[in-house]
Amino acid sequence: MTPSFKIGDLEVKGFSDGILKTSLNLVVNMERARAEALVGGTDDGWLYIPVNNFLFQRNGKTILIDAGAGNTMQPTLGKLPENLRAGGIDPAAVDVVVITHIHPDHANGLVDDRGEAVYPNAEILVHAKEYDFWMGEPSAAESDKVRAQRARNKINMKPYVERTRRLRDGEEILGCTPILAAGHSPGHTCWRIMSGRESFLAWGDLVHLSAIQISHPDTAMTYDLDPEMARRSRHRILDMVANERIVVAGAHVNAPGFGYVTRKGAGYTFESLTYSVEIDADQIGRGVL
Ligand SMILES: [Zn+2]
Repeated sequence: MTPSFKIGDLEVKGFSDGILKTSLNLVVNMERARAEALVGGTDDGWLYIPVNNFLFQRNGKTILIDAGAGNTMQPTLGKLPENLRAGGIDPAAVDVVVITHIHPDHANGLVDDRGEAVYPNAEILVHAKEYDFWMGEPSAAESDKVRAQRARNKINMKPYVERTRRLRDGEEILGCTPILAAGHSPGHTCWRIMSGRESFLAWGDLVHLSAIQISHPDTAMTYDLDPEMARRSRHRILDMVANERIVVAGAHVNAPGFGYVTRKGAGYTFESLTYSVEIDADQIGRGVL
């Protein structure tokens, strides 16, 4: 059964791309023992985080948030197309892919091994700032990692260039409004999805280790391109969703990735929405958040 939640008229479903292997060695601004305790133990620092994607239908259109890693990162990833099919969604029937940021585990899955569109009939919604950064020319100062990612991102976007809509804060298409939350990437975006007077927020990679960074927003992983800007964005968005009590849908929040954030002490806590889904005990084992 596909996990889901309701916002106004929308039924939002969670679809996994799989799990991503990472390490507590990448955690910054927290003692190792504390990090280890918060995630509930690891295999010598190694652990897996989920890669969640979300889907809803509106005005006869099927809208997917993020596209997973495809066949490019780890064998435990790239499961989104088959999971969509298992849930009754043909990738060719996806009309819109909303992108939180153009990083490997969110955008490499836009294309297959030959660079062809996995979502052949979809248009892309992306923040102009994110798109323009990655589609632009490299700067002399940028790292090899950013340079390589930029080259890959041009492959990801190529089949979609003619059907990509670049939005800025305050603009809206199909009830989807971008809120820039930069730092993890230059145009990293939280998407607010409205339904009547209700909304939910797909917050992308605002946190990578939800068991640590929601309660300790100053702690980060080395994945953030501009760590200080990412830290400020994390505080701002956590504050917003706690104040407004809107459902958040996080790409790397403990499966299925949606729930409420509430204030607790100097940080926050996460209340996962209840859902009924059979969890595969082999896949979701020790060390998996
Ligand atoms: Zn990510």
